[in-house]
Amino acid sequence: MADTPSRPGSPASHDTDLIIVGGGPAGCAAARMAAGVGMRSVLIEPDTLCRNLYRIGALNNVLGGHTAGPALADAITAELRSTELCRPELGRHVVELRAGDDHVAVTLDTGAHLTAPYAVVATGVGPLQPRDVPWITAPSGLVLPPLWQAGADDAEGRTLLVLGGDRLIGTFLRAHPDTDVRLLVAYPAADAYKTEEIRGDLRVTLLPVEHLTLRLSGGGAASADVVSQGGARRPVTADAAYLSIGNAPTAPPGDLVRGADGYCPPADQHPRVIVAGDLRSARFQRIMTAMGSGSEAALRAYYAARDLPSAPG
Ligand SMILES: Cc1cc2nc3c(=O)[nH]c(=O)nc-3n(C[C@H](O)[C@H](O)[C@H](O)COP(=O)(O)OP(=O)(O)OC[C@H]3O[C@@H](n4cnc5c(N)ncnc54)[C@H](O)[C@@H]3O)c2cc1C
Repeated sequence: MADTPSRPGSPASHDTDLIIVGGGPAGCAAARMAAGVGMRSVLIEPDTLCRNLYRIGALNNVLGGHTAGPALADAITAELRSTELCRPELGRHVVELRAGDDHVAVTLDTGAHLTAPYAVVATGVGPLQPRDVPWITAPSGLVLPPLWQAGADDAEGRTLLVLGGDRLIGTFLRAHPDTDVRLLVAYPAADAYKTEEIRGDLRVTLLPVEHLTLRLSGGGAASADVVSQGGARRPVTADAAYLSIGNAPTAPPGDLVRGADGYCPPADQHPRVIVAGDLRSARFQRIMTAMGSGSEAALRAYYAARDLPSAPG
């Protein structure tokens, strides 16, 4: 990896053939496909490969016989590690991406730079935080985990304050059918229809709120002043607070083109920047669609590098 940006121009000045930003299913599929057509890649991922898949307890829409996320994640990780043409850069994240006439340059959190003729960006989505919604007042800079990241140990015998009524609460309850947990689900009127599937679960207490002011103790315990949708005020306490507000795209800063909803439509990007996976739009956010788009992204770079149109004719 170069400490300063390579001089754009000749292919020899690039660090690799393809930079892949994000090591989820889309980024890993891009790396495999790139290697399959002889392209070198560097894949940058701040966490473990396929980190989200490790949290999916049951799968029923993935080919290949996988019925749980961790087994699929292990299989993908093993394949990627044996992919000689791909160099994973784990524990690093991209803080800026710039696209030029003949190269793409990314800056990592270490300050190092990388250049390549093309980049696949597959950074997916991340949870909205309390600061992103008007109905919550919370300490500035507060970052909470999404409920789906809570394991049985985080929940057993505890009361959890869940901010927002997004559908992942149902996923959490189904993944922990025997866990003795109490969920206090505080949600705005707009989320009311999403709470239908959890209303019947005796572990859930629904709190329709107009506004919620949240405080956390050093140990993570949460207390909140809740103004109900009828205007009544009540205090709420819980052992911890989790999010179920929804997701937002997590595109790195720089030259990615964002739509009004924050997503990065592939057709709007610089020709050297190819967006794949969940980052494309709020639709099609599935494992197999992510893999398909990641694979296609790598092939687009392959054809473009050879001045071959992706769509012949
Ligand atoms: C609880 C839950 C259950 C789900 N269940 C299913 C299911 O049953 N079936 C199904 O098909 N789909 C399911 N999904 C959706 C599926 O997980 C996603 O569609 C899929 O993971 C998207 O893949 P991706 O590669 O686009 O993004 P992600 O998997 O989100 O990967 C993006 C990666 O980019 C990395 N990244 C972010 N920012 C940067 C940066 N600046 N620099 C470098 N790297 C960065 C992240 O660390 C992350 O690892 C579920 C999702 C969740 C949350």
